[in-house]
Amino acid sequence: MGCACHDKPRKTRKVKVGRFSIGGSSPVSVQSMCNTDTRDLKATVDQIRRLEDAGCEIVRVAVPDMEAALNLGRIKRAISIPLVADIHFDWRLAVEAVRQGVDKVRINPGNIGEKDKVREVVKACKAAGVPIRIGVNAGSLKALKENQKPRWTPYEWARQMVKEALDQVRVLERLEFRDIVVSLKADDIERTVMANTLFAAKSDIPLHLGVTEAGSFLAGTVKSSLGIGLLLSQGIGDTVRVSLTEDPAMQVRAAYEILKSLGLRQYGPDLVSCPTCGRCQVNVGKVIHELEDRIYSDRQLRLKSEGLKIAVMGCVVNGPGEARSADFGVAGGKGRGIWIEKGKQIKVIKESEWVNEVIRKIRNSK
Ligand code: SF4
Repeated sequence: MGCACHDKPRKTRKVKVGRFSIGGSSPVSVQSMCNTDTRDLKATVDQIRRLEDAGCEIVRVAVPDMEAALNLGRIKRAISIPLVADIHFDWRLAVEAVRQGVDKVRINPGNIGEKDKVREVVKACKAAGVPIRIGVNAGSLKALKENQKPRWTPYEWARQMVKEALDQVRVLERLEFRDIVVSLKADDIERTVMANTLFAAKSDIPLHLGVTEAGSFLAGTVKSSLGIGLLLSQGIGDTVRVSLTEDPAMQVRAAYEILKSLGLRQYGPDLVSCPTCGRCQVNVGKVIHELEDRIYSDRQLRLKSEGLKIAVMGCVVNGPGEARSADFGVAGGKGRGIWIEKGKQIKVIKESEWVNEVIRKIRNSK
């Protein structure tokens, strides 16, 4: 996939993750991670189903202990998107996760332990055709065990991250295991972008992009958009996860908005609304939030609205003019508004009916 604003995508090897592929010519996919207790089957499955409705394509769950690992098969059977087991510290959990049928394992080389333990994980994954993501985080580098407060420049941090990722890749490839995805994440844009750019120049392994611990919804989305966007605009990146201290469904939406704004994926409509001003006598914010909630929590509605431009404007002074380029929309008056289709003023409707009218129009479109 491509658009004028980013370089030719970097050529990467294709890695199969359940029914999805990462890398090769696959579109950049969207991932999220559950914040439920993996031992709680109902809560985890409910959340994953919500994520599926929001458009999540690959979902990861934390596997902190054997009880969580033993629940993975049941979770997997209850969902329809690929399931990734996130393992730290204990290689035995990774082996059990593979036995339970997960579609990918994520390990952190900084804390999985000795090479022979990694070897056991690789053996299990190879036998089951399950790929491994080597997830390198700046805050848990192996080198930090010897030097807890290194005086590294951001470039030196990035080089160390790449070195540890490539060391781990070599361990896997020596075992003739090539179904590898790598992530290099820091909690700032500079190191994240540098590390991924350096790695991309050295390997054809697909990259999972993200800025780790990015923060609250607004701050985290801005940081992630810049970090992930800078890399994608250079053609680097095969799958993304936006880390936010937020409902994971919002992480999915944020990820798609980044991809949509770069022309890499479609996701729901282009919803245009005015910022409102002293002329406005309707509640544009409430209408937009209700519309977003309805569209993005309903897979059918989201898919039907793809490619549509819908405008919600606060007044009739500028509204109709600004809504002209939309497929349809509404421009406010006092408690009512003018319904506009392809620039033509069609009818007047009450403010309380705006959301339902937009939803009806989406359902009847195409
Ligand atoms: S459309 Fe009307 S209410 Fe909205 S910002 Fe413009 S002038 Fe103000």
